[in-house]
Amino acid sequence: MEIRFDGKRALVTGSGKGIGREVAIALEKCGAEVYALSRTQSDLDSLQKQHPGIHAIQADVTNTQETMERVRSLGPIHLLVNNAGVGVLQPFLDVTEEAYGRVMDVNLKACLFVGQVVARGMVERGEGGAIVNVSSQASMAALRDHAVYCASKGALDQLTRVMALELGPHRIRVNCVNPTVVMTDMGRLGWSDPKKAQPMLGKIPLKRFAEVEEVVHAILYLLSDKSSMITGTMLPVDGGFLAC
Ligand code: NAP
Repeated sequence: MEIRFDGKRALVTGSGKGIGREVAIALEKCGAEVYALSRTQSDLDSLQKQHPGIHAIQADVTNTQETMERVRSLGPIHLLVNNAGVGVLQPFLDVTEEAYGRVMDVNLKACLFVGQVVARGMVERGEGGAIVNVSSQASMAALRDHAVYCASKGALDQLTRVMALELGPHRIRVNCVNPTVVMTDMGRLGWSDPKKAQPMLGKIPLKRFAEVEEVVHAILYLLSDKSSMITGTMLPVDGGFLAC
């Protein structure tokens, strides 16, 4: 199955590192004109050095109005990947207001408002489009020390369903991918300790964590016309974790 995005303009948030970076690179390989938005300039510099065709946008998505303005200034976007995400690990009884605000602002609020700007353009142009929100298995399963992260991703799944409902008549599809642990910087934060990793691996029928590439493939599929009748779904990339 070949996936091509020739003639499409794609925006990927959180594309300096990890999953987002590889999504940006893969989209460019498949023919899209890619806008990589992320927070750390040095990450964007190294991405552009490797892939000079990718356009870099340095922005912190928690600066909502500024980010919306930057995104609006890009012109037509046909494909959006709301990927930027953060996790702060705290036991429920110790959750701080600061951590709550930061995680919700990146993992939920930014997806809504970046999605809003991009979808408005799609509606105005009447050409349809596709949006993928990067959620997590943590949206559907309780993970110790992940109270705010789980809540943010659960809310993101619901946001995705409502976006799919309201944008569907405009031929805009909106879906989530819900990965298990992936050993990016974020994955290492929560799961490097074998005492935490082993019990999690024990609950995954395929007995391993996901590779970045496996998440990228699911995102490309949901952005592409190969999934033209799929909207409002949460696609686990979890080796079966959520099935058990
Ligand atoms: P990562 O390696 O930590 O990369 C996250 C990227 O998002 C970084 O480039 C980061 O930039 C950027 N970012 C974070 N906050 C931002 C902000 N306020 N404004 C702009 N960019 C921001 O994480 P990852 O593992 O690739 O995660 C990508 C997505 O997958 C997230 O939504 C995450 O929740 C989800 N996910 C990850 C896992 C996992 O185990 N890794 C599992 C399930 C779901 P800076 O480094 O400059 O902040």
